[in-house]
Order: sequence, then structure tokens, then C-alpha cells
Amino acid sequence: MVVKFFDLTEQTKQIYAEINTAINIVLTRGNFILGEEVQLFEQEFAAYCGVAEAVGVASGTDALQIALRGLGIGHGDEVITTAHTAVATVAAIVLVGARPTLIDIDPLRYTMDPEQIKAAITPATRAVIPVHLYGCPADLDPILSIAKRYGLWVVEDCAQAHGARYRGTPVGAWGTVSAFSFYPTKNLGAYGSAGAVLTNDPGLAERMRWLRSHGWQERYISQIKGMNSCLDELQAAILRVKLRHLEQWNAQRRNLAAVYKTGITNHEVVLPYEPDDVINAYHLFVIRHQQRNNLRGYLQSKGIGTLVHYPLPVHLQPAYYDLGYHHNSLPECEKAASEVLSLPLYPELTEEQVSRVIQAINIFNTDPD
Ligand SMILES: *Cc1c(COP(=O)(O)O)cnc(C)c1O
Repeated sequence: MVVKFFDLTEQTKQIYAEINTAINIVLTRGNFILGEEVQLFEQEFAAYCGVAEAVGVASGTDALQIALRGLGIGHGDEVITTAHTAVATVAAIVLVGARPTLIDIDPLRYTMDPEQIKAAITPATRAVIPVHLYGCPADLDPILSIAKRYGLWVVEDCAQAHGARYRGTPVGAWGTVSAFSFYPTKNLGAYGSAGAVLTNDPGLAERMRWLRSHGWQERYISQIKGMNSCLDELQAAILRVKLRHLEQWNAQRRNLAAVYKTGITNHEVVLPYEPDDVINAYHLFVIRHQQRNNLRGYLQSKGIGTLVHYPLPVHLQPAYYDLGYHHNSLPECEKAASEVLSLPLYPELTEEQVSRVIQAINIFNTDPD
């Protein structure tokens, strides 16, 4: 039995009829950019997250850039985030002309360590970007209170946490603005590239709408310098169908995560920590092992696909050397990068497949005797 790390084909089969109908409506209508489907998806997704407004954009990376630019962040400004994340989080800060200040993670949760924020603040700091990594909400309460005390914006990176909740409230509803990605592999994924920014601030929502279309407040007249980053009608129609299934898919991810948690008994494996005041969206099921690469090779030899999120922290990637960080500047982040391993986890995975992964992990022994 082969267990793929990720496979969308079964899900697509299950919702094929609904998707087909939705796509046909768009084709018949003949409008492909910023039409009715986008408007409806924006309303439905904002309501799902409990936020007043959503603005559909072309990707999660653009969502972060538009959020930062909407807040007026650019040259000369600093934004605090973590290096244990998708490169997009840090890239977006650089792309708007600001400087990322990278702080270490809480090693249990893999998200921003709130204790480290204060020391990273300078007079140029404008915002903090907590990343709800792997589906687990960052510890928002202390992050929000420090941000409030120092007058910083909070921009949530929710790309891996659609539907996750912190103290009962969905992620995306806590910060000044939040950024989502609908990359195909995310918990809510399009069949192409897509993203959204959410906010309760109507002025900010309006600026972000201008920014996604060339800064037009009136067609063909740019009042500000904007981007071309629109959510398209086909992706919006697909996302509307998939949003109706998201709660059930996330519940299934949590069921399978619980099967992994009770099944894995290998004492060399560290299981994901789950704070009791969150509902984890389990975008990824990430374990730790001191001989991660050996375990990964072993699972591969048994036909089990795994990935590493992420093998090299952003501050140690060649493109970001110029930020001035070096080895050991973010020790928890660097240690995590060498030990984390993502196991297969998606709603259509069967319990038999999960059992197969568990059995393989439980007999993996680093001691040759
Ligand atoms: C996927 C992802 C992004 C970027 O989203 P794209 O749609 O791929 O541009 C940003 N942040 C995190 C944490 C992500 O996982």
C-alpha cells in the first residue's frame, strides 16, 4: 500500500458535480474577473470567519503585501515575524519595501514566541505578523496586548489555518487585518492561485480593493499605485463550493490527527502539542525526530510520502542573507527545521492508510541492536 503525502483527486471526485455546475454558471455568464462569484465568496468567507469584509486577491503572498500596503507600511518601516514559516511571509514584507525583524518561535507550538516581541521593537516597527503555522493558532492574546501597548498593527498570516479557532473565535478575526491563501493544497484550496484579505475596518477594506486593481477608485484613473491582483470568477465559484465542505473536512483532519496521536507510541517521536484553548485546523501533522532524515528515508522505502516544512529557515536562505542573521541567531527555529517531519494528512486519507503510517513509525528504531 502506497500512502501519498497529498492527493486531491479523491476530493475532486466527491465534489465533481457541484464544481462542474459552478464552473458552467461562470462560463455561461461570461465574466471572469471581479464579478458576482467574487462578491458572493467575499461575503460568505468573511461571514465564516466572523469578519465584516473580505477582499479577494490573486494569492496569499499578494494578500500579505496588500494588507501591509493597505496599512501604509513600506520603506523605512519594520515588521516583526518568524523565520520558521513559508518564505512568502517574509518575502511579502521585503516586497513592500519594509524590513523584516525575525524573532524565534515557541518550540512546542512552532508559532511566534510572544516573549521575544518586546526586545525586537524599535521606533521604526509598525506591525507584527503572527503565522498560524500548521493550522495551530499563534498565542494571540499576549501578542495582541503587546501590539496594543506599543501601537503596532497585527497582521495575521492565516494561510495554513482556515477554520482554526483561538479561544472560540476564528483566526482572521483577531488582527487589524488577516491574509489567507487558497493555494490548492491549503485547507480551503482553489484549483489555481487565490487569496484574500479580511478586516473589520471599512476604510482599510476600501484601500485594499483599490490596491488590488491598479489603485483605481474609478476605472482607468489610478489614485494610488496599485497592483493587478484579483481573485478570478472561476476560482471564486470553486471556493464557494469548497467552503460549504470546509468544517466537515477540518473535522476529518482532526479525527485523523487523533488517530495518529493515540497510535504513535515510538518514544523518540515528539507529537504535535495542542494548546487547550484552540481548535487546530491541522493543515499539517508535524512530528519531530532527532534523526528526521533517516526516518524520512525509511518511510519513503515503505511507500509513505512525507515532506519537511521547512528544511531551511528563511534567515538562512541565500536570498535573505542580507537581512544580517546568521547560524544560531534563532536557535529554536533552526532546531525545529532540522527535526520536523510532516506526515500525510488530508480529509480523504483512510484510517487504514493512517494505521499503515503509524505501524511504520512505531517499528522505526535508530538503535541498530
Ligand atoms: C502558502 C502560504 C503563504 C503564501 O500563499 P500563496 O498563495 O502560495 O502565495 C503565506 N504564508 C504561509 C504561512 C503559507 O503557508
